[in-house]
Amino acid sequence: MLLNLEQILGPAREHGFAVGGFNVTESTMFKAVAEQAEADKAPMIVQVSPNEFQFAEREQYLYFTARLRRSENPFVLHYDHGKTFEGCVRAVQAGFTSVMFDGSHLPYEENVRLTRKVAEMAHAAGVSVEGEIGSVGETADFERGIIEDMVYSTPEEACRFVRDTGIDALAVSVGTVHGLLPKGFVPCLQQELLKEIAFRTEVPLVLHGGSGTPEEQVAEACKNGISKVNISSEFKCAYYRRVRRFIEENPAVVSPTKVLSGGVEEVKRVVHTKLAVFGSVGKAGYYGNGAVG
Ligand SMILES: [Zn+2]
Repeated sequence: MLLNLEQILGPAREHGFAVGGFNVTESTMFKAVAEQAEADKAPMIVQVSPNEFQFAEREQYLYFTARLRRSENPFVLHYDHGKTFEGCVRAVQAGFTSVMFDGSHLPYEENVRLTRKVAEMAHAAGVSVEGEIGSVGETADFERGIIEDMVYSTPEEACRFVRDTGIDALAVSVGTVHGLLPKGFVPCLQQELLKEIAFRTEVPLVLHGGSGTPEEQVAEACKNGISKVNISSEFKCAYYRRVRRFIEENPAVVSPTKVLSGGVEEVKRVVHTKLAVFGSVGKAGYYGNGAVG
């Protein structure tokens, strides 16, 4: 079944687990993550970022939405890190049931103005919206371990931002970093800050930059108010590591089914581990017939 973000995160918030958001670019990885969610009876958010969206033809999402809708497992198709109003409109047109508008780099008032505009547009179509306040860090220098642009969210601003925008979920910055972590860097999630934000805000919270963050910290965050965790780099790395090794060991094999199948196994292995960390394995039973699509 295909739900919107509000519908999939409601039971997660109520029962204290988180739903994984997995970024996919093309059909092989899409099929791998969806099949693992079904095998684990775990609700799942399949995500596509703007550059991944650009990479594919629109018809790919006809397949994605049809595939997810016919499943008995609860799914959302979510547009991750939309940076423009127009990009979010195109995602809604393509059948996405949830969009993120990321104005975290903008001044507060401008972030509110654009996020609210996206929320009004999306809600008219039954589509949910995720916003962001504070700024999740980015790895600026992998070798030297330099992290840029990390600004923690504050409880006051988070609470005000949700009310000012009408969003359905809020991405917060509490110590994670996007993408691959620099050598030797171990994130330290601010659990007390997270609890305070969760106490003060009325919508489910989202943790970006979940790849590489120690699993016990992520599991604790899921108990402290995080209802959605984004994972991208970690399973993609596992996929390419295995595919690369196969090609090196079997340079004459060019059949995609042979070259890629080990990578698919790796994706499923990582996704299964994450779903267990989020506490979402076996939780599909919480979802009834609320499908939007
Ligand atoms: Zn992110």
